[in-house]
Amino acid sequence: MGRSTLLSVLCALVLAGCAGSAPEAARSKDRLLRVAASVSTEPGAGAPAPGAAAEDAAHEHEHEHEHEDEVDEDGAEVDDGLDLPVDPGAGTRAHSPLAAMTEAQIEELLAKDPAALGPMSVGATNAGALFNGVRMPESDRWELVDPGHAWGTRETVDALDRAIAEVHRQFPGSPKLYIGHISARDGGRLSPHKSHQAGRDVDISYFLDARHRWYQRATAANLDRERTWAFVRALITETDVELILIDSSVQRLLKEHALKIGEDKDWLDEVFQYGSRKARPLIRHARGHANHIHIRFYSPVAQESAVRAYPLLVKRGAIKPTAQYVRHTAKKGQTLGSLARQYGTTVEAIKRANGLRSTAIQAKRVYNIPRPSSGPAAPPKHVVVPPRRLPPPRAAEASRPVRHEEAGPALGG
Ligand SMILES: [Zn+2]
Repeated sequence: MGRSTLLSVLCALVLAGCAGSAPEAARSKDRLLRVAASVSTEPGAGAPAPGAAAEDAAHEHEHEHEHEDEVDEDGAEVDDGLDLPVDPGAGTRAHSPLAAMTEAQIEELLAKDPAALGPMSVGATNAGALFNGVRMPESDRWELVDPGHAWGTRETVDALDRAIAEVHRQFPGSPKLYIGHISARDGGRLSPHKSHQAGRDVDISYFLDARHRWYQRATAANLDRERTWAFVRALITETDVELILIDSSVQRLLKEHALKIGEDKDWLDEVFQYGSRKARPLIRHARGHANHIHIRFYSPVAQESAVRAYPLLVKRGAIKPTAQYVRHTAKKGQTLGSLARQYGTTVEAIKRANGLRSTAIQAKRVYNIPRPSSGPAAPPKHVVVPPRRLPPPRAAEASRPVRHEEAGPALGG
């Protein structure tokens, strides 16, 4: 097949819509693996690793005294590698235009015109790669702090642009945001992060009141709650966001603001970890996120393309096989040496996998442990994007019949 034919096939498939229908997703549900399941589960356990976020939340008050520097005192990286537990619920099965191509066709494009295959987000965000990445463009709405490390999938770049555009629609003339790291051009490890490896993670500033600098801490005194909430709300309601990391202290300010302007309390409890006991909040606390927001987007097409093309990319040497990590929560008294013995790896390999400069580790912190002799395992099989968590429609609220109130106390509660 010639290139132009292939391209027109690709275009037709894209135009036909890449998101599968819900019934189709339901039919094939049992065959699917959540991308969040990825490779990072506790060793030997059937259940996913307990959320590091829940543990962090228990210690949230400790973080109020942390300084602004993203890198911790022990030289470890920022704690942005949070894995979400597997959600058995339904979602939308992602589709890649590559699914309609034969291996020979994909190989031919890889050899002659790899860009035509489109962006691919390979593997897990904490052990992945990016192929055919798209650089975040320049704009008068944001400033790229490190343009050389602002590469993402097409979907990441578009989703970010869309959410920022929504803030400007509501608040014309809004100040610039700072966009920090997304991913390196080819993805992979990007210091000082655990994640940011597959073109789906973005660091971005809060909207702060006065002129501010990158990594300035958001506080009750300087946080622009209107614009920041409008931005976070747009991420949740208008993009395929997987996860948002915001320090608990800032979550509190945003949630209080959202309640004050009349947002639905149950919905806010669904999305904020702060002040909620719901199982899977979208906005979670993680160390080091009082001075910037960390956003992780699903990139259904780029992830699904990577699933399809992974063995061929590795075979051609276009990417290195992605590493597989086990996540280990350190216990008191454990050392890198004892972990290396326990998992059959080396102190050096653990240091490398976590960007550690010294051999000191801290109890209760989560570390990536390289899984030995795992070989070039493929990324997760398929990608399912869960339904967006939308607030109840406000119009319905307003038009609710008055006699609902007059009918007496509501049943149940
Ligand atoms: Zn980050």
